[in-house]
Amino acid sequence: MSQEHVVAVNPVFARPGEAIAVERFRMPIGEMLPETAYRIVHDEMMLDGNSRQNLATFVGTWMDEHADRLYADSVDKNMIDKDEYPHTATIEDRCWKMLAELWNAPDPLHTIGTSAIGSSEACMLAGLAFKRRWQHARRAAGKPTDRPNLVMSSAVQVVWEKFCNYWDVEARLVPISEEHRTLDGHDLASYVDENTIGVVAIMGVTYTGVYEPVREIARALDRIQQDTGLDVPIHVDGASGAMIAPFLHSDLEWDFRLERVHSINTSGHKYGLVYPGLGWVVWRSADLLPEDMIFRVSYLGGVTPSLALNFSRPGAQVLLQYYQFLRLGRSGYHAVQKSSQDVARHLADGIGEMGAFDLWSDGSDIPVFAWRLKAGHTENWNLYDLSDRLRMKGWQVPAYPMPDNLADVTVQRIVVRNGLGMDLARDLLDDIREETTFLDRLTGPMPTEGRAPGFHH
Ligand SMILES: *Cc1c(COP(=O)(O)O)cnc(C)c1O
Repeated sequence: MSQEHVVAVNPVFARPGEAIAVERFRMPIGEMLPETAYRIVHDEMMLDGNSRQNLATFVGTWMDEHADRLYADSVDKNMIDKDEYPHTATIEDRCWKMLAELWNAPDPLHTIGTSAIGSSEACMLAGLAFKRRWQHARRAAGKPTDRPNLVMSSAVQVVWEKFCNYWDVEARLVPISEEHRTLDGHDLASYVDENTIGVVAIMGVTYTGVYEPVREIARALDRIQQDTGLDVPIHVDGASGAMIAPFLHSDLEWDFRLERVHSINTSGHKYGLVYPGLGWVVWRSADLLPEDMIFRVSYLGGVTPSLALNFSRPGAQVLLQYYQFLRLGRSGYHAVQKSSQDVARHLADGIGEMGAFDLWSDGSDIPVFAWRLKAGHTENWNLYDLSDRLRMKGWQVPAYPMPDNLADVTVQRIVVRNGLGMDLARDLLDDIREETTFLDRLTGPMPTEGRAPGFHH
């Protein structure tokens, strides 16, 4: 067997006579002791990065020990078994009703929503609701339904391109530029037509952490309606920002206070502060979700309404979200998000002062910010090199190109999550300063070979 096809087992952990190498890609013929199997899985997992220093991900990596206990208590719950676990199902309803209120729905008890496996699934459901509503209206008017399109910024998260690809919707991407760094309503009329099922606005653009001005987009759509009669709804992708803005920017109108906002999603596992595997979507009122998207499944002795792409999925994360809502309340969420933002602002100020960089954003929207190398600073190195140098100290700080029409701009980004405190932030600033000085001392170009592979959103 060639070495790359086997996993070696330390003989100390194997029973005498037990195989000390297992095949990587074939199920073993026989059994092995649970301790040995545990050791193999555990050791491979240990080689993953250190999550505290992973400044690339938005996803939660820490919960307190009570949450850990609840998680262990509920790992066996299947969310689809609403008949078996009616209380878990009730708690799911409570959670999205709380979100409806947090997002200023006019009548939170008459909204409709659901949990999902992440924002990706939540976005798919919201996009499908747009497509279905548009189809129903078009059919009722005797018009064709074969060419739907969805309008959004070129800086959308990949899920929206997936949605358009999987459900046969044309993705109309409005390119960002130096003047229009987000979708801001500018020139929207040239993208919207009778086949537009909706517009996506992002609260917390993944590339840069900035909010898109949902109110300006809504106003632009108001003007389009006055001129053309087209009534185009907005979905807000608040994967991260919908759990930041209510606590840190409560005066900002981005949510159901704007009538044009039909639906909002968020990732419970991002700034909702829950372990991976949880998203939410809420519609401002029940009538905006086409009834034909809800399945009534006869299962395990009852009839279960199902609005989801999955059938079975874990229920534990929903309980963990409820735990966080109870545990933290509005003031606790405010405190956690504010401290992440303070750290982000501190880091952004420090990086801005180093002289080598221009901040693209400063962490004052979501606690995420990006910077680029100052024009003319150096020909010898770039942000990919800095990313590599920081990797050597364990920090994962990705560099990547911006989307169209700014694909020639490279930025580097930090996502501040609960757990990156001021002390760690100081260490990180020192390391960035030190590595920047190191790179600035180079007298020739940094060799490009062996650079880390590109970062994927
Ligand atoms: C993270 C993110 C998503 C995808 O969310 P998941 O919860 O990872 O599925 C979608 N949109 C935006 C803006 C995001 O930041």
